[in-house]
Amino acid sequence: MRTPHSTKRLDLTGQRFGLLTVVRRVESIGNRTAWLCRCDCGNERVVKTIHLREGKVKSCGCVKALHSESALGLHYIDGTCVEMLRANTKRSNNKSGVVGVMWRASCHKWQASIMFKGTRHNLGVYDLFDDAVAARREAEALYYDSFLADYDAQQAAETQGAPA
Ligand SMILES: [Zn+2]
Repeated sequence: MRTPHSTKRLDLTGQRFGLLTVVRRVESIGNRTAWLCRCDCGNERVVKTIHLREGKVKSCGCVKALHSESALGLHYIDGTCVEMLRANTKRSNNKSGVVGVMWRASCHKWQASIMFKGTRHNLGVYDLFDDAVAARREAEALYYDSFLADYDAQQAAETQGAPA
């Protein structure tokens, strides 16, 4: 007898499902193939193939926590993911401890920047860390708050119907 599945084994390594990137195959759950996935927020989670493929699991759970009404889907506007943007203002993943503020060793200054709609906007370099953070906060208010306010207004209009 041949064993056909030994020649063609499913490999999802490196593929993306929502915010999740498949890291490697792990021990099956029951008879279901399972994968270790890394979420864009930094958390890891083991997910079954079927849940990835059907789109039932698209994050480690952080998106659901951020935006419960849209737990089943991510929302993109002009290439910007609303859920990631919300998460982005709350987490820090670099050495400065503040998203968008980086130490530039070449010029011994703090550089502030912000990612918005797929483009990184340079907010200038500063001698003082606090000034760079202030520039970043100002840009967050400018770019993100209006973006999220527009999105929330749009969502509200869709659920309630057009105002009379
Ligand atoms: Zn996550």
